[in-house]
Amino acid sequence: MSEHGHPAGEVATHCPYCALQCATLLRRDGDGAPEVRPHPDFPVNQGSLCQKGWTAPELLNVTDRLRHPWVRDGKAEPRPASWDEALDRVAATLRALRTAHGPDAVAVLGGGGLTNEKAYLLGKFARVALGTSRIDYNGRFCMSSAAAASIGAFGVDRGLPFPVTDLGQADVVLLAGANPAETMPPLMRHLERPELIVVDPRRTPTARRAAVHLQPAPGTDLPLALGLLHLAVTEGHADLAYIGARTTGFAAAREIAAAWTPERVAEVTGVPEATLRQAVRLLAGARRGYVLTGRGSEQHRDGTDTVSAFINLALALGLPGTEGSGFGCLTGQGNGQGGREMGQKADQLPGYRSITDPRARRHLASVWRTEAERLPGPGPSAYELLDSIGTADGPRALLVFGTNPVVSAPNAAHIGARLAALDLLVVADFVPSETAQLADVVLPVTQWAEEEGTLTGLDGRVLRRRRLLDPPSGVRSDLDVLHGLAVRLDAPGGDYPRAPRAVFDELRRASQGGTADYAGISYDRLDAGQTLHWPCPEDGHPGTPRMFLDGFGHPDGRARFTPVVAGPPGEEPSPGYPLRATTGRVLAHYQSGAQTRRVRPLRDAAPEPFVELHPDTAARLGVRDGETARVTSPRGSMLARARLVADLRPDTVFAPFHYAGDGRANLLTGAALDPRSGMPEFKLSAVRVEPCAGA
Ligand code: SF4
Repeated sequence: MSEHGHPAGEVATHCPYCALQCATLLRRDGDGAPEVRPHPDFPVNQGSLCQKGWTAPELLNVTDRLRHPWVRDGKAEPRPASWDEALDRVAATLRALRTAHGPDAVAVLGGGGLTNEKAYLLGKFARVALGTSRIDYNGRFCMSSAAAASIGAFGVDRGLPFPVTDLGQADVVLLAGANPAETMPPLMRHLERPELIVVDPRRTPTARRAAVHLQPAPGTDLPLALGLLHLAVTEGHADLAYIGARTTGFAAAREIAAAWTPERVAEVTGVPEATLRQAVRLLAGARRGYVLTGRGSEQHRDGTDTVSAFINLALALGLPGTEGSGFGCLTGQGNGQGGREMGQKADQLPGYRSITDPRARRHLASVWRTEAERLPGPGPSAYELLDSIGTADGPRALLVFGTNPVVSAPNAAHIGARLAALDLLVVADFVPSETAQLADVVLPVTQWAEEEGTLTGLDGRVLRRRRLLDPPSGVRSDLDVLHGLAVRLDAPGGDYPRAPRAVFDELRRASQGGTADYAGISYDRLDAGQTLHWPCPEDGHPGTPRMFLDGFGHPDGRARFTPVVAGPPGEEPSPGYPLRATTGRVLAHYQSGAQTRRVRPLRDAAPEPFVELHPDTAARLGVRDGETARVTSPRGSMLARARLVADLRPDTVFAPFHYAGDGRANLLTGAALDPRSGMPEFKLSAVRVEPCAGA
C-alpha cells in the first residue's frame, strides 16, 4: 500500500502539528465523529503517533471553535458579523491606510503551519495586492538562524538534505539542542540504532538515552562547538582529503577554533574536558555520522554563528554531502520547511529565492503579471516588524495568519503593547488565540482535516493534506479570505485562486528555477503515491531525496567553512538576576499552545506553566516543589509552578513557552536579535526566582 493507498472510507493525510508530518488515516466512526490511526506504511512514523497526533481529531470539535467572523467597533466588545461586513471593513481600512501612509502602512505576519498554498498566496497578496515590503512569518522565531547558516555553508537550506529515514542507518548522531523524544517522538525510532551525543543544558528524555550528554550553561553553545572543532583537529580527526576536495575556508575556521582549548571550553560551558573528548572521539569514529541542530542551539542572538560552528565541525569530519552521513536542522513547525520557501519570508520570493536577485524578481513579476520594479524589496524581520508598530512610520494595520505572537514572540509584554497601538489588527485563525482576542476583525478559517493542500516535511518531501470533513458553515479557507480581499482591493496580479490545486499549479511556476523548485511536482503525482523531494524541476523528474552528493549549492560546488567568533553571552547573570533561564517545549503541547491547550487529554497532561529548578537552588531561594514561583527578568515576570529537578544545572531554570497570561515564558525573553538571521534570543535570559506565596 502506498502512502496514498488506504481502505475505502479512510482519508490518507498527515498530523496537523509538527514538522515530522506523521502520516495518518482519518475516518468517521459510526456516529460520524472523526477517528485517527497512524498510517502503517509511511516510513517516517512507521505506524506510530505521539500523544498530540492521537488526539488530533479533538481539535476539530473544540468548544470555542470560531464559526463566524467577529468585528470590534472602537473599544467595544467584539460582535458577530457577516463575511461581507468583515471583509468590507478590512478592505476599506487597508485602502484608506495605504492611501494616507503608503503601502508599508500595512504589514503581514504568516505562519509555519500554513500549507504551501496558503503561504504562497499570502506572500503574493502582500507583495502584489498590498505592495508592502512588511511581510514575515513566525519561522523567524523558529529556525531562521539554521536556515541562514545552511545557505552560507551549502548554498541551500533544506532542513535535512537527506530522507529522515537515513538517520536509522547511522552509527552516531550528534543532537545539538534538540529533544525529539518529547518534541517529535516517532523520530526516536530512527535514532535507536545510532549512539547519541546530546548537547542540552537539561537532562531531557533524549539526553537520558545518549551515550554522551554535554550539559553546557545556556548561552554557551557557540564556544562549545568551537571547542569540539578544535579537538577534532588537534586529535587528528579532520578529514583533510574531503576538506581539500569539497570545501573552502578551513584554515580560518581552524585558526579561530584554536583559541578554544578544552580547558577554556570547560571553564566557559561547564562541560568537563573528558566529556568533550569523549564526544569528539565517538563522532569522529563513526563510519556514518550526522550532526543535527534544533532550537536549543539555534534560538540565540548568535544563533547563525552557533549553527555555522556545528556545520564547521561536520565539515571538518567530512560528513555533509557524503552517502550515509550529513548535517541537518530538525525543523519544528508543521510546514516549517515549505513555509520558508514560498515567499512569506521578509527577504525571499517563492522557490526560496532572494528578493534582491534581479532574475528572481523578473521571474516572479512575469508569473504575477506585474513589473519587477513594482515588487517591494526586503522588509524587516518579524520582531523588528512588530516592534516598529506605533512608531512614526511603522505599520498601522497588521494581518496575522496562523500565528499567535502574543504568546510566541519574545519580550511579550512589549509586543502586546505594540499590537494595541495598531489602527487595525486582523487575525485569521480557527480558535480565539490570545492574539485573536485583541483583534479588531477575526476571520474564522478551516483547519487540517477540513482542507486540501500540501506541506513539505523537514526533509523536503512534499506531502498531501486531504479533507475528511466539510468545514462548519460559517468558516472559510484562508485562500478564500485572500481572494475576497484581493477582489475588494481590485488587486493587480491576475487571479488569486481559491482552489488549492490551482494555487499549487501557480506556485510550481513561481518556484521554477529556484532553489526549492517544485515545477515537476503535481497533485496527480503525489496522489499516485510518488515520493517527491524538492528540487524536482520538471514532470517525470524523480525528485532529489539526497542533496549535495555531487556537489554543494555554491557555484564552485564547494561547501564553505564560516569563520565564527564567540563573544560573551548576550545576557550575563548579575546580582539582581543571578540565574540563566531557558525556554522550550513539552510533549503534550505544540508551539504557543493555542491549539493543544484546547484538547482535553493534552491539557490534562500538561495543564499549567511550570519552572524547573535544581533542588539546591530552590532550597537557597525558599522555593518549594509544587508551589507557585515568580520568575523575573529585566523584561518582566511570569508565574509558574515550581518543579525541582535534580539533574538540572544549579545555575539554570527552564520554562515551557506554551502557556498564556502571566504564565508566558516569553514575558522573560528579550529583544536582542541575531544580526544575520533576525532570530531573537529565546534561550538565555538572566532571571531571579522567588516564592510567590498566595498565588
Ligand atoms: Fe504529529 Fe509531530 Fe506527534 Fe508526529 S511527532 S504525531 S507529526 S505532533
